Amino acid sequence: MGDRYDVVVVGGGAAGLAGALALARARRSVLVVDAGEPRNAPAGGVHNYLTREGTPPGELLAAGRAEVTGYGGQIVTGRVRTAARDDGGFSLTLADASVLRARRLLVTTGLVDELPEVPGLARRWGRDVLHCPYCHGWEVRDRRIGVLATGPTGVQQAQLWRQWSPHVLLLVHDAPPPNADELEELAAREITVVDGPVAELVVAGDTLTGVRLADGGVVDLDALVVAPRFTARAGLLADLGLAPVEVELGGHVFGTQIPADPSGATAAAGVWVAGNVADVRAQVISAAAAGLTAAAAINADLVAEETREAVRERRHRVATMFTEQAWEQRYTSRPAVWSGRPNPQLVAEASDLAPGRALDVGSGEGADAVWLARRGWRVTAVDISRTALQRAAAHADDAGVADRVDWVHADVREQPPVEASYDLVSAQFMHLPGEERDVLFARLAGAVAVGGTLLIVGHHPWDLRTSVHRMHLPEMMYTPQELATGLDPAVWDVRAEARPRTAVDPQGREITIHDAVLVARRRS
Ligand SMILES: Cc1cc2nc3c(=O)[nH]c(=O)nc-3n(C[C@H](O)[C@H](O)[C@H](O)COP(=O)(O)OP(=O)(O)OC[C@H]3O[C@@H](n4cnc5c(N)ncnc54)[C@H](O)[C@@H]3O)c2cc1C
Repeated sequence: MGDRYDVVVVGGGAAGLAGALALARARRSVLVVDAGEPRNAPAGGVHNYLTREGTPPGELLAAGRAEVTGYGGQIVTGRVRTAARDDGGFSLTLADASVLRARRLLVTTGLVDELPEVPGLARRWGRDVLHCPYCHGWEVRDRRIGVLATGPTGVQQAQLWRQWSPHVLLLVHDAPPPNADELEELAAREITVVDGPVAELVVAGDTLTGVRLADGGVVDLDALVVAPRFTARAGLLADLGLAPVEVELGGHVFGTQIPADPSGATAAAGVWVAGNVADVRAQVISAAAAGLTAAAAINADLVAEETREAVRERRHRVATMFTEQAWEQRYTSRPAVWSGRPNPQLVAEASDLAPGRALDVGSGEGADAVWLARRGWRVTAVDISRTALQRAAAHADDAGVADRVDWVHADVREQPPVEASYDLVSAQFMHLPGEERDVLFARLAGAVAVGGTLLIVGHHPWDLRTSVHRMHLPEMMYTPQELATGLDPAVWDVRAEARPRTAVDPQGREITIHDAVLVARRRS
């Protein structure tokens, strides 16, 4: 638990698990912390969840947990006590004092149903003390239903429940009595109004049988409907500056929720909410849907952040990759960077050339220069890295051609070669930003003597479409045709070709890549 997760989900009900599932499938590291008290725990089954009608709440959550962990999401039992901002993300402290870190938070802590204080009522909550006709109406259809009015909405609630049963009573309890219009409506729908406070519930065995009024009278009932106050479980969010707002119906406040945009994003950057904590009206299926929506928004937010970071890193890399220091670092990081074999296009093009004076630009560890020297060429090999040149010189010694190679430490961009001095100028895989490249290649062309050959080889841009996985630098790649445009046809005989070559990608697959090859002979 010491790592920083992409996302920590606080609350593992329908909203939290659906969010975690989508995030795990999006290959995000995600941890769900759940205190294990889903709101509908007392209910026998979840209704109106298409395809899972009547599934016990615990069973639905267990299936959801298995799906989340099946994709690598983690779930722990615990209670998050506090949340704080930390290093561009968040740090959460759990009740057991453990600390978690996350880049983003998805808070799906649900709500608390604050029940009217009537003796015996809380014990029967979710079984025969009910609030939601869509959750329980069918199960108590045609039964005797008492609606306990605790506010001005009691009358509407009674009207609603009348849809499920002809035996509905309005228990006025401590609510304002219905006005004349309401009394007429209730009478029209044959809903009996029972005055006076309810003193307690009457239970036989483990079954509600009615309510006892303060005056001692008993009303026989099979179910009691209440209107809890729905209070967002949002204490944690106060630490992050988020306060719940009141939710009203007909001027009556019946709950609180955390305000958020349609994706669940809150006013606190990096914090999303979903399910009942953000929407007191959410049912299980809509809480799950909101979790999914928030997860997608979180993933998009992380992708945007990662893209910004990648652009920053890339700019830095491109700005520093051609310095002497960068090349030194590259060579000193490994005993050998290159294979030690000459480049295949050099071998293909220079094997039949009569040896003369050769310029090897960016000679690296010297495989090309040594190969040329062995074939009788007098080679000037130029590189920006002293380490590479030392290795190259050692190879030339080993090959017995040290006297035919001049190793030159230089940045060819700053110290161009002498004009018209070489019978072969070879630049293998020199990739530079466009303008610098054009200037350098023009100078290399200028260094070719009459009758000599210019050989430029690079990674073809087609390789970007393959899985070869080089550094992704499209602006530094070139086609052979692009190279050829710089050469005057009156002066040069040009061959510009994309030559296929077999390579092995990082996954071990054999693939075809292409070298961009320019071979130009100077006529005059
Ligand atoms: C009795 C009853 C019956 C219902 N029946 C139905 C029905 O049939 N069909 C239907 O669609 N809806 C039903 N509902 C509504 C349903 O319960 C909610 O819509 C649903 O539970 C909302 O899901 P949620 O993920 O937002 O919250 P919850 O399911 O309440 O999950 C929140 C989770 O967060 C955890 N948590 C809270 N705070 C923390 C913390 N600080 N740290 C870690 N974990 C925390 C809780 O322990 C809980 O596990 C019923 C509700 C009740 C009360």
